[in-house]
Amino acid sequence: MSKQNNPDVLIIGGGVAGLAAAVDCSSRGLSVLLLEQKPRLGGRTYSFIHQETGDEVDNGQHLMMGCYHSTLKFLRLIDRINSVSIQKNLSITFRRTNQGASTLSAVNLPAPLNVFFGLLRLNTLTISERLSLLRIGLELIIRNSDSNKHLQSITVDQWLDEMKQPTANRKYLWNIISIGALNDVTDKISAALFVKVLKSAFFGKKINSSIVIPKCGLSSVLVDGAAEFIQKHQGKILLDTSITKTEMLNSTVQNVHLDGGEVVSPKTVISAVPYFDIPKIFDKPEDIGLKNLDKLVPSPIISIHLWFDVHFMEEEFVALIDSPIHWVFNKSKIYGKAHEGLMYLALVISGAHNLIENDKEQLVQMAHKELQQFYPTASVAAIVHSLIIKEKRATFSPMVGVEQFRPSNETSIKNLFLAGDWTNTKLPATIEGAVQSGFACSELVKQYLQHD
Ligand SMILES: Cc1cc2nc3c(=O)[nH]c(=O)nc-3n(C[C@H](O)[C@H](O)[C@H](O)COP(=O)(O)OP(=O)(O)OC[C@H]3O[C@@H](n4cnc5c(N)ncnc54)[C@H](O)[C@@H]3O)c2cc1C
Repeated sequence: MSKQNNPDVLIIGGGVAGLAAAVDCSSRGLSVLLLEQKPRLGGRTYSFIHQETGDEVDNGQHLMMGCYHSTLKFLRLIDRINSVSIQKNLSITFRRTNQGASTLSAVNLPAPLNVFFGLLRLNTLTISERLSLLRIGLELIIRNSDSNKHLQSITVDQWLDEMKQPTANRKYLWNIISIGALNDVTDKISAALFVKVLKSAFFGKKINSSIVIPKCGLSSVLVDGAAEFIQKHQGKILLDTSITKTEMLNSTVQNVHLDGGEVVSPKTVISAVPYFDIPKIFDKPEDIGLKNLDKLVPSPIISIHLWFDVHFMEEEFVALIDSPIHWVFNKSKIYGKAHEGLMYLALVISGAHNLIENDKEQLVQMAHKELQQFYPTASVAAIVHSLIIKEKRATFSPMVGVEQFRPSNETSIKNLFLAGDWTNTKLPATIEGAVQSGFACSELVKQYLQHD
């Protein structure tokens, strides 16, 4: 039987989790077969060329952080670390309607003092509002969100009440972090996951709080280099390929039938598909130990891509306060084309439950009106091109109680492992969670093959 039909590991799903697993397994010298049902790799992180302008457009702007250690390792492995820019110190500009901008900048001190002194200088807050942030700082030092049952049982709002956070702190800081990092609203999100995010970003190394921004399209950053790496290591990638049947014997996957009629007998299998696709590849998820998949519910993200005839935004990116648009990214500037040709902006609406059914016209009009509130010059700028991308199942909603339903990487089938941002990474659905799960499965595959 050929290596392709009898690989050390068959990976189903070519998103970031599957790619990270495939790259790590390949680097261990294992033979890899990667299947992807779509004609392209990348899953929920991909980009394409916009025909009218030639710009690279992401399915949705992705931000990473210095605390994404596994992702940064992945980027180094696939030789794409130079495709991202990493802030030296955290810096986020917040804009308020008709009131200009204020910037949260970390100072040059070891973490967490760098961020906390930065917060204390945030001039959108009064002195007493800033001092009340210290309560959060103290809580972060003493609480372990992974084991704290109380945090796991309350929402972010309830936790902020307990921390006596004034309205301004929520509006100018916590709400933005929460919707941006966890993709849902503070009266739904689990406080434990929020605390985990804050601790990962603000504690440990100083670099952890820095924002990491792709300098080119997501496919160029996360996907193309991974595919090259896998192929260079004799791995095989089949696009437009799914599986029709999985045969098990003695709690072990034996044969996997592909939709082209081929049968593969892998030594191990990593499923790297999202929770909502699991029933398509395993008739009875409960047979592999997966119960309660229906407890994970999706949260949408809308991306509004606009090309203007006037360059009215100077910053690379800003967070908007009190707006249905949460973030604006100046893609022209990020791509090194500030002031050249049209100005390309990518706007992000996270947790977009209320707007997801709006049509393109409504969303574009709303976006232009909103931008005028924050950048008066936008009123004399015309939109030359526009594009809306709705990702209805962008992430699972990190609601209170959801953690108990996220499965571990191991299953009740000895040679079958689960990767994906929805597995029990203890992080929200993020690139970092996806990469960590892929690496974890690669380690489990190695251990299985050593003892087989
Ligand atoms: C608009 C948007 C913005 C986001 N912003 C951020 C951000 O700023 N920062 C951040 O860290 N994260 C962000 N995320 C989340 C991040 O994109 C995801 O967490 C991550 O991409 C998930 O990767 P994954 O590999 O687990 O799943 P996926 O990317 O969903 O990959 C799964 C793959 O499996 C394939 N598949 C499914 N069924 C089969 C089958 N039967 N056979 C073969 N293949 C199959 C799918 O086609 C897909 O390619 C964002 C997501 C979206 C959509």
